Amino acid sequence: MVSRIIPVEPFDLVIFGGTGDLARRKILPGLYRRFCAGQMPENARVIGAARGALKDKDFRELVSKAIEEFVPKKRQDAKTIKEFATRLHYVTVDATGTDGWDALAKLVRKDVVQAFYFSVGPSLFGDLATRLHTHKIANPDARIVVEKPFGRDLESAQALNAVLADSFDEGQIYRIDHYLGKETVQNLMAVRFANVLFEPLWNAQYVDHVQITVAETVSVDGRGAYYDKSGAMRDMVQNHLMQLLCLTAMEPPSRFDPDAVRDEKLKVIRALDEVPADNIVRGQYGPGEDVDGYVAHSQNPETKTESFIAMKVDISNWRWKGTPFYLRTGKRLKARSSEIVIHFKQTPHSIFGEDAGSHDNVLTIRLQPDEGMDLRVTIKEPGPGGMRLVDVPLDMTFADALGPEAEDVPDAYERLIMDVIRGNQTLFMRGDEVEAAWAWTDPIIAGWTKRGDRPQPYEPGSSGPEDALMLLHRDGRRWREIRK
Ligand code: NAD
Repeated sequence: MVSRIIPVEPFDLVIFGGTGDLARRKILPGLYRRFCAGQMPENARVIGAARGALKDKDFRELVSKAIEEFVPKKRQDAKTIKEFATRLHYVTVDATGTDGWDALAKLVRKDVVQAFYFSVGPSLFGDLATRLHTHKIANPDARIVVEKPFGRDLESAQALNAVLADSFDEGQIYRIDHYLGKETVQNLMAVRFANVLFEPLWNAQYVDHVQITVAETVSVDGRGAYYDKSGAMRDMVQNHLMQLLCLTAMEPPSRFDPDAVRDEKLKVIRALDEVPADNIVRGQYGPGEDVDGYVAHSQNPETKTESFIAMKVDISNWRWKGTPFYLRTGKRLKARSSEIVIHFKQTPHSIFGEDAGSHDNVLTIRLQPDEGMDLRVTIKEPGPGGMRLVDVPLDMTFADALGPEAEDVPDAYERLIMDVIRGNQTLFMRGDEVEAAWAWTDPIIAGWTKRGDRPQPYEPGSSGPEDALMLLHRDGRRWREIRK
């Protein structure tokens, strides 16, 4: 298989917050990898813009170190890092003041693709958009990339959309959700819409239920102040899990183009039922052997913030009525694992009798680790001894199926940044989508705030609180085990 690198136009990419954690861990190493892949044209430049008083050479050094730290060793090459560094520039800018804006205006070219990545705290998104406009830095085709969180409720998201809209058209705004940049997430669309096999079965008639799990092993240590105001619902469900749900549940768009896809996702969000309180389980990790509990990380002994959430979600439309979607996400769980699991119904009648046991087909789409898919099918157990049935996986781990090429599959950020440069918004959230997601989330949060609900404690390294297991048990179902 020969990978195809599609060239992009010359560009100036300005990274506001270019010295921050996200830029060092993801954005800049991702750009280096695209540079190595030959996807950065001769006169493309990356401009770091942040508060620190750095010179170009300091920024180049910072980026080289970030590459050494965050790019796998075998992908590093001293000569290429040096060449990449010549594309880097730096301007000291104050997002809330006047410092640095004239210098930035002088540096950024008007006749190339312009992209401005807002890798700063959300309170600065509006300031940056306004200043790019008032200092006449952005050309009419410029793109802005806005990081999460996009608001903390409907009202703040609407206010942010309005402030961005004062300076930029919707077609210029790229709200990033890096889950959408994952190879498997796009493969979910390929599997659904490029095969005849699945789509006829992809509905309430044949699908018993869907599980979407995003499990993390990390705690919120060091991010407690931020996380305490957010919690798993705002930090993970409203955006990442919602996007996965939409791509799983949406109708086939008529074309794979940005608005056609986003229209279908929006329809799903609008078809979500309200979630009654007994369909939600909130959890908070307690202390364990040698590890602190959530309370110690939050520094608020009375904190009611959830680090775990599990919920049963119903979709009121013709395709999905009666097929629940179970969502689950949490910190400090047993393993780092994200997957979408489609449980198909059993055959209407077993010709093999009761001894054959019960079997169902399960399609698992793994987002991390080992991106890939497998489909569990039922076959005859080999050998004599009658018709005994056994479930076996048809495995499609990308690394196995695609060989060494799979190692070069771009990371989510790499792919999304290149989509920004190409001007392709398909994998970015539209303003109305984000608002609809908040409109669904807000009453749920208001409900538990009003009742004063406390999250249930769970053991670090577990699968979450016991009640989360019960959420499925009471429906005669089981969560797929969280494992690496
Ligand atoms: P950070 O605190 O590490 O970095 C912030 C950057 O913003 C620094 O470069 C700093 O110099 C710059 N900055 C701060 N105030 C400024 C001002 N007034 N003017 C100009 N520059 C200013 O933050 P981070 O972790 O890199 O996060 C950046 C954004 O990305 C946030 O919105 C965050 O929610 C989001 N995000 C981060 C991660 C992550 O893994 N770090 C993941 C997803 C989303």
